[in-house]
Amino acid sequence: MPSAPLPSHVRVLVIGAGFGGLGTAIRLQQHGETDFLVVEKGTEVGGTWRDNTYPGAACDVPSQLYSFSFAPNPDWSRSFSPQPEIQAYLRRVADEAGVLDRFRFGTAVEDAAWHDDDASWTVRTTAGTVTADVVVAAAGGLSEPRMPGIDGIEGFNGEIFHSARWNHDYDLTGKRVAVIGTGASAVQIVPEIADRVAHLDVYQRTAPWVMPRRDRDYTTAERLGFRHLPGLQRLYRTAIYWGRECFVPGFTVNPGLAAPAKKAALANIARGIADPALRAKVTPTFEIGCKRILISNDWYPALARDDVDLVTNPITKITGSAVVTADGVEREVDAIVVATGFYTTEQPIAGHITGAEGRTLAEVWSEDGMAAYKGTTFHGFPNLFQIVGPNTGLGHSSMVFIIESQIAYILDALSRMRSDRLTSVQPRLGAQRRWNADVQRRLARSVWNTGGCSSWYLDAHGRNTTLWPRTTFTFRRLLSRFDPEQYVTTTRSGVPAPTDRRVTA
Ligand code: NAP
Repeated sequence: MPSAPLPSHVRVLVIGAGFGGLGTAIRLQQHGETDFLVVEKGTEVGGTWRDNTYPGAACDVPSQLYSFSFAPNPDWSRSFSPQPEIQAYLRRVADEAGVLDRFRFGTAVEDAAWHDDDASWTVRTTAGTVTADVVVAAAGGLSEPRMPGIDGIEGFNGEIFHSARWNHDYDLTGKRVAVIGTGASAVQIVPEIADRVAHLDVYQRTAPWVMPRRDRDYTTAERLGFRHLPGLQRLYRTAIYWGRECFVPGFTVNPGLAAPAKKAALANIARGIADPALRAKVTPTFEIGCKRILISNDWYPALARDDVDLVTNPITKITGSAVVTADGVEREVDAIVVATGFYTTEQPIAGHITGAEGRTLAEVWSEDGMAAYKGTTFHGFPNLFQIVGPNTGLGHSSMVFIIESQIAYILDALSRMRSDRLTSVQPRLGAQRRWNADVQRRLARSVWNTGGCSSWYLDAHGRNTTLWPRTTFTFRRLLSRFDPEQYVTTTRSGVPAPTDRRVTA
């Protein structure tokens, strides 16, 4: 069914319909704000959970916590939900909230530009142009697949696809397959496909830390309880939340606190692999937590199979039919699964957003890396809010908690703009700098910065511009109220608002 045409103007334009964009839309509606539109380049809601359909895809955070606080789901089948359940949950929540008439699917943002003269954004999309008072960018931190720059990869004549663009029309059964990468996606894919393929080569550049996955089906009694005793789900959610918050000091202050996790991960290797040479190959050489800690019970047993080879020699090139490593060995394959992650520190959406001074966010960030005020707003980009912006990522808990904290901040900003008749708000440069200096000071002692690894948390300058270095309840507290005193604000006449005169940058 063709989408309805775009309105010419909305108060709030939301980009993206994943957890961030959908959650924003629902909360806007709950707050009585109906003048909004969500544009989404895909064909339905879900974001990363719509796109990552690879075999074995599941969340590493229990769904009791990895779900909206305002939309509990009594139907989770197990503690770590598989992707189809999460996607079905998001579809259902969207349907039940009655917001989908304000979503335009198949509509990609080409560019968004701020105009000072009428204090609005002009957003050009593949379906037409819309102007907006406020833009909420919720395009996702892990949405743009990163293909590795391996020599010859374009000339491979077999089947090749990224883990986030799985080709379900291609049957891997009986094929010789290579998987490149050993991150969160690969550790889920490899055990799932190892049974089906004729032979599997797994190309590992860096051995990850992999803990046991304490996953189980919920019992019938639990599921009945979730349905009929609302307090029970809240209890589970609260217990999981606090259990995970306990990990924060091990990441941010004293990596020594992660010793029990390291012990469990080493025991996981010992349990899954008997061969000492293979055990050595999979044993990480950096501090646990430096890269994302993975969870799996079947990763190591999969690598130990006779029909699976773990290749640690670096890939030097790909020919029409084989992967070639530095030792000169050519391994013929029919298909290559590229599980090499995403663009995280150079977010593609940033190249499409132009601020008050005519520069894109990407241009501003190219100098010192990504930076925002409270991970959400940007000096020089009035009335722009980003969900899952710089330094909002987590190594230990649910991003949905962060997303809901940001949405609450945005709603408060919108209320304040309405009550104080503000036409534009942007953080003061000083406020943004102080925020980032504090974040970077805290990160400097974290395991992500000191643990002896390279990871997608760090940008080309070696700065950690992705992770939040404190507890999630601190993040929520700091974003609990929109703080106009930290903002440059204007009113309809273009003059600075009264709040603006109180504070100097
Ligand atoms: P990732 O964690 O970035 O892992 C990419 C893997 O590819 C790493 O092993 C990396 O090696 C390797 N690699 C990258 N470029 C390479 C190259 N040129 N040659 C050889 N190897 C190369 O990506 P991901 O597994 O897709 O996961 C990304 C993030 O998505 C995760 O960290 C997580 O936040 C999220 N995720 C979550 C789940 C879940 O909840 N279950 C599942 C999937 C993804 P190096 O380590 O040496 O860089």
